Amino acid sequence: MRFSTLGLHPDLLAVLDTLGYQTPTPIQQAAIPQVLAGSDVMAGAQTGTGKTAAFALPLLQRHLARETSEKAIRVLVLTPTRELAQQVHQSFEKYSQGLGIRSVVAYGGASINPQLDALNKGCDILVATPGRLLELAIKGLIDLSRVETLVLDEADRMLDMGFITDINRILKRLPETRQTLFFSATFNDEVFALSKTILRQPKLIEV
Ligand code: AMP
Repeated sequence: MRFSTLGLHPDLLAVLDTLGYQTPTPIQQAAIPQVLAGSDVMAGAQTGTGKTAAFALPLLQRHLARETSEKAIRVLVLTPTRELAQQVHQSFEKYSQGLGIRSVVAYGGASINPQLDALNKGCDILVATPGRLLELAIKGLIDLSRVETLVLDEADRMLDMGFITDINRILKRLPETRQTLFFSATFNDEVFALSKTILRQPKLIEV
């Protein structure tokens, strides 16, 4: 299996070539075609499986296919920790190098102003922890009305850390018609309950 057989854009294939990625990992093989097709996805995947590229690559491709270069937050990725937010943001930057797509990261426990400056320079993809995202939204500092895809990364850890109220408040501010991608390393009743409320006819992926 090669990346080219997954339907990825030549510009992304060129980036992957530069990075030395030769073969898609199992989660990438399963998820990339589904995300490209616009489906909701519920994926069980541990860190280290290549799950970030499994959602980042097809979401970047959707940006490349877009005719307008107008900046708006089209992809919102929620992560449980600032470390993961930074990692995911860096992955988006790595996979979109030279493609004119902007990823911005926002997390709590750090000054909001540099994050706002970055947002105001234009943002296609926002990677954030739930509390800071909610703060930005409540203060009217970001516009979430154009979000096309929501990604919940490490949903189980977000629930363990008590983010359910924040997540529900964020969901209320997002367009109802959207694609939602749900990644979790483990599944319990609480994780299933959340997935049920936010996913529509999801494709199940377990690797
Ligand atoms: P993740 O599970 O998303 O944290 O990714 C784990 C690591 O694998 C990251 O350092 C990625 O850069 C790397 N990686 C992801 N996909 C591939 C691939 N298809 N081939 C080689 N390395 C990869």
